[in-house]
Amino acid sequence: MKTFPMFLRMRDRDVAIFGGGEQAAQKCRLILKSEARLTVCWPDLDPELAGLAAGGRITWRRSIPQAAEMEHLSLCFIATGCPGLDASLHALAEAARVLVNVVDQPELCEAYTPSIVDRDPVVVAIGTEGTAPVLARQIKSRIEELLEPGLGRLAALAGHLRPAAAARLAPRARRDLWRWVFNGAPRESHRTGAERNAARLIKDAIAAGVAPKASTGTIALVGAGPGGADLITLRGVQRLQEADVIFYDRLVDTAVLELARRDAERVLVGKTPGAQSWPQDRINHVMVQAAREGRTVVRLKCGDPAVFGRLEEEIAAIRNAGLKLEIVPGITAASAAAARLETGLTQRGAVDSVTFISGQLRDGDASPDWGSHLKPGTALAIYMGVGHAAQIRDNLLAQGHLGTCPVDVVARVGHPGETLLTTTLADLEGDLAHAGITNPAILFIRNPKQPAAAQTPIPLRVAG
Ligand code: SAH
Repeated sequence: MKTFPMFLRMRDRDVAIFGGGEQAAQKCRLILKSEARLTVCWPDLDPELAGLAAGGRITWRRSIPQAAEMEHLSLCFIATGCPGLDASLHALAEAARVLVNVVDQPELCEAYTPSIVDRDPVVVAIGTEGTAPVLARQIKSRIEELLEPGLGRLAALAGHLRPAAAARLAPRARRDLWRWVFNGAPRESHRTGAERNAARLIKDAIAAGVAPKASTGTIALVGAGPGGADLITLRGVQRLQEADVIFYDRLVDTAVLELARRDAERVLVGKTPGAQSWPQDRINHVMVQAAREGRTVVRLKCGDPAVFGRLEEEIAAIRNAGLKLEIVPGITAASAAAARLETGLTQRGAVDSVTFISGQLRDGDASPDWGSHLKPGTALAIYMGVGHAAQIRDNLLAQGHLGTCPVDVVARVGHPGETLLTTTLADLEGDLAHAGITNPAILFIRNPKQPAAAQTPIPLRVAG
């Protein structure tokens, strides 16, 4: 960061704009949103600026001040429209040690004006250090969509009620209160225009001395996606931001964990090579325990929790404990791997069904019969298959599949070290070893239908 973003109090600060045309007017509109005292220095003003001067909103000075007269300025904008004049005014401002912004000349700027999303007192400022104003505007419009127009009034109301909340609620309950205000019924009510109702809800909660916690006793089983912070769902991110404690698997990308609140506790419950692993019972126990203590719990699982995630065991533990459950689906590794291969999981007319199948079953169970699932017109997406490549090959060959049958392998999709390998059934084991591929990886094996015989096109009948 060459620049440092910061919000400055502007009351009793002096700001000057040098210039009297449209560019000066733009900066003027911006500064007038704040409480700064604004002087526009230029011999003649465009009608908008002249109107503001006549109405007393700005001070109009026809001459350019000397350097000594500029020293009291907190900030000045130079927008004369004449590069030579801009440069000499810049030198003057520098001599007076005033922070300066020269419109459209980033190399002369000490301060940049950000793109602003204004929901006063909620203000989002987006800066690109002058490199990409268009990008800043694109980001701005995305954020504009996210923040409802009345949000500032809700924030102002919260600010107004803060002392009352501080007087009645303990710090933890306070945090829960504000989380509920901005995430629950008050925000919803406010968004739909029922602002008085929102205020009443908050005041009642403060008076009662407890924060209505929608999520008390709830455990959310959240799919983290296959990797990368942008492959989790928006709902998943929301649950992460609400969580007091997150129990996560080893395969969950650390970038996803960073989406959680900074003060949320993170507990790795997956198997780590060399370290002691957590039995499922223990995971269930700690998760339920934390929810019973009133903490907001997220159980974060890689991919989609419903795919090879021992979901049913966790659901049963949560239900048996009488707790509420929410499942937030995620992108499963097979979907991400297919996307990486730029292919469909199914292919119309060639692969009409796809089986998600594991390379391993529970200890003591017989190996899966992969070949029985690979009928013509189907595909296998094999999870946890790398260590079982030889059995998979032998099983498929024994059922009449050819050694030349192609196999696509996508390892660590979405993570650093992502690897693609295209091989054949016969070479699978050797090629995996040669490429150093270990789990996590998906093996794709397709048995496409033979293309139907080409049909003779039916000639178009021309009317008449
Ligand atoms: N619930 C997960 C699967 C858990 S089982 C999901 O929906 O994706 C663990 C197996 O998933 C791994 O052995 C591997 O086969 C697959 N897997 C998980 N993450 C992966 C990744 N980033 N790249 C490739 N395969 C992955």
